Amino acid sequence: MELIVQKFGGTSLSDAQSRGYVLRHIIREFKLGKRVVVVVSAMGRSGEPYATDSLLELVRSNGNALPGRERDMLLSCGELISATVLCSLLHAEGISAVALTGGQAGILTDDHYGSARILEIQCERMLRHLAEHQVVIVTGFQGMTRSGEITTLGRGGSDTSATALGAALKAGVVDIYTDVDGILTADPRWVSNARPLKTVSYEEISNMAHNGAKVIHPRAVEVAMKAGIPVRVRSTFSEGEGTLVTHAELLKSQGVWYDKTVTGLAHVRDVTQLAVTQVEGPADLQLRIFRAMASHAISVDFINVMPTGVHYTVSGHDASKAVALLRELGFEPRVRERCAKVSVIGGGMNGEPGVMAVIVEALTNSGIPILQSADSNTTIWVLISEEGLATALQALHTAFGLHLAPDRGH
Ligand code: ADP
Ligand code: ASP
Ligand code: MG
Repeated sequence: MELIVQKFGGTSLSDAQSRGYVLRHIIREFKLGKRVVVVVSAMGRSGEPYATDSLLELVRSNGNALPGRERDMLLSCGELISATVLCSLLHAEGISAVALTGGQAGILTDDHYGSARILEIQCERMLRHLAEHQVVIVTGFQGMTRSGEITTLGRGGSDTSATALGAALKAGVVDIYTDVDGILTADPRWVSNARPLKTVSYEEISNMAHNGAKVIHPRAVEVAMKAGIPVRVRSTFSEGEGTLVTHAELLKSQGVWYDKTVTGLAHVRDVTQLAVTQVEGPADLQLRIFRAMASHAISVDFINVMPTGVHYTVSGHDASKAVALLRELGFEPRVRERCAKVSVIGGGMNGEPGVMAVIVEALTNSGIPILQSADSNTTIWVLISEEGLATALQALHTAFGLHLAPDRGH
């Protein structure tokens, strides 16, 4: 009997109407005779009663004075509510279902509260319930340490729960249901004519996810890629097939994928650029700066080392700490806040001339200065001021014809 994992995100569970759609997807697969494992996120988004952000808000007024262990206990409640409510809906439809916490489902993690790693999944209990023709509902985003403590996997971690369960249970497919039609050429909240892609490779979506496309968590993609489990990102609110994510070679052999110069755009906001000019020997300057950042766990990006100094970026969240550290070292950095990093991503860009020229032309014609840039085989990154972000994304999307591109697989 085929096994399928279905994951439903927060907006898919936020009200009775949405949960009605969720129910339909579960019942459809169950009635096809599949063994169904459902992974749920906490209901709704920030401000809604049981959303993860709303739970966090409950302790924010205490200055977040809560140890990591107890914080994870609090965070795990949102998914528990979703799982039990969904369980009651299935029972009301006459379908036997069981709700399991991450720990009860056998998801064992390390003890890094707030960003725990899955060590192992013991599937016996889930398989037992499945053999009894029960739908198994597992709380996303959480697991348990070997000593029985509740842990969470990091924000957006329900996607990882789903692909990890898919890998452990050898699922035929993992369906990630969300509030958009699949993986689009850009974030539809920023680019109104972004188009859904029929197929993307693990590498491409991993690249997009690492560069800020929130539609799927990058760790979830890595887990699926390693296990070779196909993933479909699709809408809860339609019967559309969404985007199929699998190995590029497999898609190529089926004639449904080709290396496009540019597949999509992704972006990260609230980035701060720091520029330090040389006051001593360059080696010493770089060493001191990056050692200081590393020892305070400040992650650095967009590093340009020049004979005259260093430019790099940090997240806005870390900016004041980074500036204070630089001043302690005797440097006076030039600080540019509220920047955005835009990524132009495509598996077929390697060696393709002219991609940077298109980017520069599109941004120059829109009056947006490029503050820094970098590139790899599959991505070109540009740093711009955040106020130009919407214009830049739209201009690049148009310049690369992403609004026109035929969906892969057609
Ligand atoms: P969920 O609660 O279902 O996990 P998320 O908010 O985590 O949903 O992810 C879905 C959101 O990701 C969409 O609403 C969309 O705004 C955003 N997104 C960003 N980049 C993309 C992209 N390239 N394709 C599709 N959605 C994207
Ligand atoms: N509820 C968690 C979050 O908001 C996990 C998830 O939704 O994937 O981060
Ligand atoms: Mg998500």
